[in-house]
Amino acid sequence: MKKIIIAIDGYSSCGKSTLARALAKKMHYVFIDSGAMYRAITLYLIQHKIKIHHEIEVANALKNVHLAFEFYPETEQNNMLLNGVNVEAEIRDMAVSAKVSEVAAIPSVRKFAVAQQQQMGKLRGIVMDGRDIGTTVFPQAELKIFVTADPAVRVERRFKELFEKNKNITIEEVKANLEMRDYIDTNRSESPLRKANESKELNNSHLSREEQLNIAYKWAMEKINA
Ligand code: C5P
Repeated sequence: MKKIIIAIDGYSSCGKSTLARALAKKMHYVFIDSGAMYRAITLYLIQHKIKIHHEIEVANALKNVHLAFEFYPETEQNNMLLNGVNVEAEIRDMAVSAKVSEVAAIPSVRKFAVAQQQQMGKLRGIVMDGRDIGTTVFPQAELKIFVTADPAVRVERRFKELFEKNKNITIEEVKANLEMRDYIDTNRSESPLRKANESKELNNSHLSREEQLNIAYKWAMEKINA
């Protein structure tokens, strides 16, 4: 069967990764959470106290960053490896979320991540989620989905997820972080978050995970059989 590239973009905490992971599993495709790469780079810069507004320092630091995904069959999840170390839990912390959009706006960082993402798509049969996948990483993707959800639903979902791990987190903190990241992501000069013209919009505010998966799967099958 023909293998296609599926690009899933949208604002923070719209459930893009949940959809992308489920769709990849159903189609036996590779799933890549591109946000995890920006988060791992951010973690590296924090750990090494790199000044993020210093372009040259950042560009030099990237020479020491090696990113890889490792698939864990027990959880059926890809975990992010930063220089061989599993950082999957750490990259989801607020400390990383607070800085990641600023880091992701740095041109050298985007160039570094996008080159690796494009390499991963060489064999096709991939579902990648992020902010610029349909516009910049894979403009040739056969299926582009732009996921949306009502802001209150997004805050609630992310809060629940973070509260599981950190009982001190507040809903205001989560809301402020989502608003800040959306603002930076849509206003940066380098490949800002945009809905690609040809993308299909999927508002999942009132859809179950299964319902949204079925819609996306149907779209994918239409593209494969076209
Ligand atoms: O998807 P996630 O929310 O984990 O992504 C973390 C951050 O990485 C986003 O807020 C955004 O700033 C950045 N990002 C990006 N381009 C992508 C994926 C993520 O700029 N393709």
